Formats: sequence, structure tokens, C-alpha cells
Amino acid sequence: MSGPDSAETERLSEAIDRIVPALEGFNRFQDPDLAGRQRDTWMAALNEPLPACGEGLEPVLQALIEDIIPYGVRIGSPGFSGWVTTAPTTVGVAAALAATVAGAQRYWVQPFNALETVGLRWLAELLGLPGDWFGVLVSGGSVANLVGLGAARQWAFERIGHDPARDGLPPEPRCRIYASSEIHHVVNRSAAVLGLGRRAVASIAVDEHQRIDLDQLCAALEADRSEGILPMALVASAGTVNTGAVDPIEQMAEIASQYDTWLHIDGAYGLFGVLDPRVTPLFCGLERADSAAVDPHKWLAAPLGCGAAYVRDRALLARAFTLEPAEYLEMDSDASRVESAFDHLGDPPYHHFSPEHSAPSRGVRVWAILKEIGAEGMRERVIRHNNFARHIASRVEADGRLELLAEPVLSICCFRYRPPEMEEDQVDDLNAEIAHRLRAAGTYVPSTTRVAGRFAIRPCYINPRTSLADVDGLVDQVLEIGDALTSRG
Ligand SMILES: *Cc1c(COP(=O)(O)O)cnc(C)c1O
Repeated sequence: MSGPDSAETERLSEAIDRIVPALEGFNRFQDPDLAGRQRDTWMAALNEPLPACGEGLEPVLQALIEDIIPYGVRIGSPGFSGWVTTAPTTVGVAAALAATVAGAQRYWVQPFNALETVGLRWLAELLGLPGDWFGVLVSGGSVANLVGLGAARQWAFERIGHDPARDGLPPEPRCRIYASSEIHHVVNRSAAVLGLGRRAVASIAVDEHQRIDLDQLCAALEADRSEGILPMALVASAGTVNTGAVDPIEQMAEIASQYDTWLHIDGAYGLFGVLDPRVTPLFCGLERADSAAVDPHKWLAAPLGCGAAYVRDRALLARAFTLEPAEYLEMDSDASRVESAFDHLGDPPYHHFSPEHSAPSRGVRVWAILKEIGAEGMRERVIRHNNFARHIASRVEADGRLELLAEPVLSICCFRYRPPEMEEDQVDDLNAEIAHRLRAAGTYVPSTTRVAGRFAIRPCYINPRTSLADVDGLVDQVLEIGDALTSRG
């Protein structure tokens, strides 16, 4: 093609072949992490003015290989335990590439559309979610929680004769969402987006295991009831991002039915924990909930941009999120009349069940991963990672210089360096400095948090590339840095 629009529409294997060695090099994580230290170099190469005339494919590939891929985000490196997201495994990359090329929309009668449904079904079965709940794939836990709470809002207001999706919120009654102080803040943002306001989320204190305090929950519900406030939903964390604590789901289901309200489960990270028989009982009562969020792009290591929302009542979810009929949605018609793929948007029409219209095909990623490793493969991964957290806890218990801040439930272990003679007011600063030096060294990178006010080093294991040696490596390095800083080394 000549002229200014020189977009290459062929030579795909050539382009991919060119960048694959750089990607494989990146995935070995052998070189030190230079992204931060050499920021000026790659920024200078990338932060150019908009080209009036395109440069063609070649310089783009060159920049990808030289200036971008080598400085990529190293959350897939074996020693990285900082976030609750990781880099995809090989099959996820292959599926995402296939979806980018051949599944560029999730609509129509075609395999990528069908795999949205298969992926959701497999995921529900894997996690023990009721088979008749309706699922939809979205961009991640933020939107999955928004979908669950959007359904809750629809339910709560319909019951007082109001359609919030159509008419917005009435001035009265005020309504409230109840969640522990350890809840992920996307729940508060969902309340903002749904027009309730962040302040509509009542922050309930936690017990000594970082789980919602049920007495305080009931007290808040009771106080609000006497003020005529509408209880819209209880949110149970099935694995907090701070410590991995799982709220008492069964009791919360009981309270939800007692106060006639919705129970939503935020299991974005931790719902996969149900696969580890040692903690399965913590998830009892899951089937009594009304909605749940879970992120395949976390423990399942699907490429990022893949969350799932499940809601018990499909028709209700549609009322909360449906698009109004429109001429430009011409194919959005009746499923029986499929003559060509273009006759029908697919069944179910997923764009009626979340805030997204156009969306990438995501089911293929879930399908590919579960087809590759199966339910037992995923179970083994979850158990392995939960063992990593327990391994750290046992090393901490055995070492007088270390202190456990929360007993691991899932794959997170919160601990700190604390020699016995050290004053409490110095411990936070010392551990912040340890975390800082760990990051600067770059091999073992956990994140940090506070547990009951105390500064914690917080590794979270969901990365399929991490081995037990990496786990020990982190503890060894914490000890080494801590000893050096306190002149014990
Ligand atoms: C990650 C996470 C979220 C947010 O999900 P994103 O996929 O980052 O949008 C919400 N809740 C919990 C418990 C999480 O772990």
C-alpha cells in the first residue's frame, strides 16, 4: 500500500517472529531491572512528537525490541510477590494473540463467542459456584464488583417500586452497603459510580483475624434500620488483598437473609482458595450469596483484562445493565433465526449484562488455561502457593528476629523484621527501609501494608513461575538487610 496510510495488513508472522526473541529474553528475567534506572533513556526514545508522516512497520518493531520490551513490567519474575496480578503463562499469551487477531469482538456466532460461555461455565464449576448463576466476563475485579453491586442496587430499589437503571436514584430512602474496613476500595468506587456515593459504604471493624466483626455488622444494620436506611448489600471479602482473610460467608448469608438484603462476594483474588481442601470450609455458604466477583487475571494468570462477575438472577442483571434497543444494534435479534453468523450477536448477548459494549474475547483465555492444566492443575497451584505463605510463617516463627503479623489463610504472609530489643516506634521505619532496599535490589519484591496499624512486609504468591527457593530467598534477604541495618550482620 502506498500513500500516508501505510498500515501493514499482512506480514504477521514476520512481525511476530521479530519480537518473540525479545519477549523470550524478557521472560527469562536474567538482566537486572533497569526500567527505573534507565528511565531517561527509554523515555527519550518514546516521548516523541506525533509523526505527521508514518514511519512504517519497521521502526515500530525496532522500538518494541529495543526501547520497550526489555524495560517491561516484571511482575511475572519469579521473585516478584508484590501485587495480586502476575504475567500470563504461555497458553494465555497464545490465546490472547489468537483473540486479538481472530476474536476481535466477542459478538456473532463464532467460537470466541461460544468460549465466553464455556470459560464462564468451567470457572463456575471450578469454584463451586451454582451452575445456574449467570456470568459475564469484564475487564477485572473493579468492573466485576460494579456489576454485582449494580445488580444489588437494581434488586433493592425494585423492591420499593423504583427502577434505578431507568429513573436514577430517588432522594429517599438513603441506602447502604456494608463491608469490612479491609475491603478493596473498588467497592467504594462502585458505590460512587452507582450514584450512592462512597459514603454509602459502611466500614465495619474487623476481628483479630482481619475478618468482618459480625456483632458490629449487626449493630450497624440495626441502627440504620431504625433510621429507615435501606440495606442494599453486604459485601464479603473472600480473600482480602491485605492479609488474605476470608470473611465468615455462611454467617453473613444468614445475616443477609435476616435483614432481607443482598450478599455479594468479592473473591477477585481469593475465591480460587476454595480449591485448597485445608481452607475450603471457609467458603461455606458461597451458594447462598447473590453475586460474586472473581479475577481470572489473578491466580489463574490469565492475561490482564479478565475478570468475571456472576449473578444469581439473570433477568435482574439484564434490567440493571441492558442497552436500550437501537437501530445500530441491528443483529441483536432473536436467536432462532441464525442463517449467517452476522444474523445474530451471539447467545447470550453479553453486552446487555455489564457496562461494556465492544469488548475483547476473554473466554478463550480462561478456556485455554483450564484446558491446559485442568481443575487439578489449578488446585495444585493454589495449594503450592498457600504452602509458600505457610512456609514463610514457619520460618518467621522459628527466628527470633522476625514476627508474624497475620497467620496466613491463603497465599499472603504478613510479617516484619523485629529483633526483640527493638522499640516499637522504630520498627515501622526499619521495615520500610528493608522493603525499600528489597525493591532496589530487585530480585525479591514483595509489597507492604499495615496489619492492625503495624507496618508489614507482604508477599502474595499467585505467580506460577515462583519456586520455594524464591520464597526462601525473600526471607533470607529480609534477614540480611535487617541485620545490616541493625548492625547484627
Ligand atoms: C484485585 C482485586 C480487586 C480489583 O480488581 P482489578 O482486577 O484490579 O480491577 C478487587 N477486590 C479484590 C479482593 C482484589 O483482589
